[in-house]
Amino acid sequence: MPSSRTRLIAGNWKMNNDVPAAKELAEALVEKVPAGNGVEVVICPPTIDLACTSHKIADSAIKLGAQNVYWEEKGAYTGETSCSMLKSVNAEYCIIGHSERRDYFKETDADENKKAKALIAAGITPIFCCGESLETREAGEHVAFVTAQIRAGLEGVAVESADQLVIAYEPIWAIGTGKTATAADAQEVCGAIRATLVEIFGEELASGIRVLYGGSAKPENIAGFLAEEDVDGALVGGASLKADDFAAMVEKAGE
Ligand code: PEP
Repeated sequence: MPSSRTRLIAGNWKMNNDVPAAKELAEALVEKVPAGNGVEVVICPPTIDLACTSHKIADSAIKLGAQNVYWEEKGAYTGETSCSMLKSVNAEYCIIGHSERRDYFKETDADENKKAKALIAAGITPIFCCGESLETREAGEHVAFVTAQIRAGLEGVAVESADQLVIAYEPIWAIGTGKTATAADAQEVCGAIRATLVEIFGEELASGIRVLYGGSAKPENIAGFLAEEDVDGALVGGASLKADDFAAMVEKAGE
């Protein structure tokens, strides 16, 4: 990884932790996650926990991310959360396009595209997830599938500086299953993602955009992924719920 890209470790809590549990985990993370080791750290709690988590991490180097957003500014959209609402709790990042949202909530590339545009316009960095199913991988179509998701999701998205966008490659078959891609599998797709970013945004911008790996990443395997040229960090699900494991991953990313 060229030194120009700061490694990023982002925790996706998914639908875990009510308010008391979120406060407890945030406190433990503030205590245990190493600061000043050159790694950027983001945690993405459920929407209900954003405000209390923001308060708990306010004096730390840990940054806040959301797990979802709606692209309209305000109005009759029951149950949704706008960019300005995320800004009001100091969220700096927002996960979009996660396979769970695409699969269970039928979100499309067009939806992710609108979310990406709204977030960037609001000054929040999308963590744009992409990834293939086992069936697609076994058919040997994973690179074409993922790069098509990138092209469709980012069509017409105006990125002016590399810190306005993060990509997370998460093979669906490796999420929450304990099955990980090999570091070489991750590099194959992350490299293809970067080449696609070069086509879309040009070499200079694309070389600064962080591309993360996600899918059963844990303290024992993270170093292997991070050793790859185009893997700049990790999006972490299960292991982000344990302060010791998450802190250990941040520590390894700083080595
Ligand atoms: C995720 O869903 O973003 C994820 C990477 O989950 P896990 O680490 O639990 O596989």
